[in-house]
Amino acid sequence: MKKLKDFIRDVPNFPKEGIIFKDITTLLKNSEALSMAIDQLYERVKEMKIDKVIGIESRGFIFAPILSYKLKAGFVPVRKPGKLPAEIVSESYELEYGTDTLEMHKDAIKKGDKVLIADDLIATGGTAKAVCKMVEKMGGEVVALEFLIELEFLKGREKLENYNLISLIKY
Ligand code: AMP
Repeated sequence: MKKLKDFIRDVPNFPKEGIIFKDITTLLKNSEALSMAIDQLYERVKEMKIDKVIGIESRGFIFAPILSYKLKAGFVPVRKPGKLPAEIVSESYELEYGTDTLEMHKDAIKKGDKVLIADDLIATGGTAKAVCKMVEKMGGEVVALEFLIELEFLKGREKLENYNLISLIKY
């Protein structure tokens, strides 16, 4: 039987030289692999009484809304700067070269909300950490972070050691 990992395509030197891009479109287009991934992500968090699932632009927008629906929770988008129309909170974080910023609506999370953060992949953990900070600024509780893929050699988990971090496919 095929495993989830068998559906991930490695694309060398994308988007730049030296990066091996983990392409999930080969998993998404296969109905059985997609169900398997969603079912496994759901199984790990279904007892957590989650109020909101946060998806990180862009590929987090694929998994988070499906999980929201299954968990009977709300969906909250975290976006790149300048995309959200109402009042926002923002958080900047370090990249290998330079910094990046993410934004979220100020009224997206209520004090005491139990929040799940979902994305396709965790690399250095910088993106996920920035989202945790925003949720906590608004008084939300990050009950878990879920990723389809974890690049363990980049040690993102160390940056998030106080959180419940779940991943299905590890490299
Ligand atoms: P990081 O903040 O370093 O954990 O980076 C995580 C974000 O970058 C995720 O939203 C991923 O989609 C993207 N990303 C980083 N490295 C890769 C990779 N090798 N293949 C695909 N996406 C990646």
